[in-house]
Amino acid sequence: MVVVKDVTRELDAVRARDDLVGSVTHELRSPLTSILGYLDLVRDADLDDETLEQVDVAASNAERLLVLVNDLLRAASDADKNLPMSFVRADVAEIARESVASQRIFAEDREVELELDVPASATATIDPVRIRQVVDNLVTNAIKYNREWGTVQVSVRETGPAITLEVRDTGQGIPDIDLARIFDRFYRTKSARNSTTGGTGLGLAITREIVQRHGGDLSVESELGLGSTFRVRIPTEHVAPDAPDRAISAS
Ligand code: ADP
Repeated sequence: MVVVKDVTRELDAVRARDDLVGSVTHELRSPLTSILGYLDLVRDADLDDETLEQVDVAASNAERLLVLVNDLLRAASDADKNLPMSFVRADVAEIARESVASQRIFAEDREVELELDVPASATATIDPVRIRQVVDNLVTNAIKYNREWGTVQVSVRETGPAITLEVRDTGQGIPDIDLARIFDRFYRTKSARNSTTGGTGLGLAITREIVQRHGGDLSVESELGLGSTFRVRIPTEHVAPDAPDRAISAS
């Protein structure tokens, strides 16, 4: 028996969604750039320390928003394959420490405990801004999709020619049928869609793209009701993803 399914309408819907996201984010970008420009001008004025600090907080939040808007725009136009990367020697352990420190307040708000198990240093040839984005995305998800009084464990280890970063949570877990799809752009599980926890469904797609561009791989293990572990492995020496002798194959 041959089953033929016409997916034209589904493809049209996906295209319409991407067009909408693309145009909305495009419209968001210019006012945001203007806000940042004016905040820069205000910063140059003769301000007292307290006001300067408030302007800095506003500017850093506007910058974060701009990074998000740019990522959304890139994802909608399917151009995330071209994320600009700049590789240098950097310390993954330090990046993990900074990421965890920056999310302490968010975790406290959600009554989630953060545990960190990293060596003094673990250097690799990476894009440190993008790897920070990877750790931030995984830790944010581990907090967001955790239970009250849950735990998030972040660990970094040197494993031969690679560095392995693990983010383990004690949350709701991910159903088997969703495991393969959570890395798709805009995909959110039913329970995430039904909860009040906000999200775009882009974080893991961007995370996987960044890890693959490092010649590494990203995997997940999950048990319903017990929690999930996301594992990132990146080679300590950068190998271009399409080089034949890459150290680790991307999943
Ligand atoms: P977002 O969090 O913005 O929805 P992501 O791409 O980061 O998007 O994640 C996609 C989906 O994968 C989430 O909507 C959620 O359903 C699921 N997910 C991601 N991380 C976890 C986690 N640690 N525990 C349970 N579900 C998760």
